[in-house]
Amino acid sequence: MRTNSFDGLCDACSAHVAAGSGSLTGKPGRWRTWCLACSPRPPARGAHDGWHRLPLASLDFETTGVDPHADRVVSYALLDEPGFEITGLIDPGVPIPTAASDVHGITETMVAGAPGPAEALTVVIDWVQALIERRVGLVVFNACYDLTMLRAEAQRHGLAEPDWERLLVVDPYVLDWGIERGGLGQRRLVDVAAYYGVRLDGAHDATVDARAAREVAVELAARHATVGTTSLEDLMGHQRTWYADRAEDWNSYARRVGRDLDDPTGWPLAS
Ligand SMILES: [Zn+2]
Repeated sequence: MRTNSFDGLCDACSAHVAAGSGSLTGKPGRWRTWCLACSPRPPARGAHDGWHRLPLASLDFETTGVDPHADRVVSYALLDEPGFEITGLIDPGVPIPTAASDVHGITETMVAGAPGPAEALTVVIDWVQALIERRVGLVVFNACYDLTMLRAEAQRHGLAEPDWERLLVVDPYVLDWGIERGGLGQRRLVDVAAYYGVRLDGAHDATVDARAAREVAVELAARHATVGTTSLEDLMGHQRTWYADRAEDWNSYARRVGRDLDDPTGWPLAS
């Protein structure tokens, strides 16, 4: 959540909140100011059983840019059972723009001599397929981005694709939207992790991000029984709906103010 940049009245208790001393949530036209005591926080952990008590895997990529159809993977982290943590660099075979290196710190010099996409991504795809067979949920924050890129890379390099239809995806970005309906404003991994008290030291390192995403997913399920007690199979349908709702929410705002429309379709793979 953002700190409030202007004086305001607390949305809950109406106390005066001096600039910089409380928080700000919401979206353009619907901003809400909160004093520190009233700032939104997640519910306490419940005693319910659910998928957060089962093994969960997690995946994250660092890449050459923001277009999952055209950009390339330069590093990956695959987290599975305790002790299973595979990370690696990939020489994408294309330049790594400075704008991307500035985000994740991976340069062309660093990937020189690393395996190419076909070799490295075969490891990733085989692992994803193994998760499908084991019926283990795969946590991916904003899965549409990473998984669409994995599919594009597989097709680009002629690799066999995982059985996408049977993959169980847990996307904390989409689950958070389903719970908050966008009411808390911008929700990057760093925002959602802070809200749930999950440590994120060194964001934009694939391993750090994959670990934090999995911890956030566990907190979401432990603190929201309706999410945690839903089977991962049923949760796939809910996430598809929430992702579409989120896109429609953004698009209706974008139409009003003349901003670019969000690509509305397809989760966990963009269509
Ligand atoms: Zn208050």
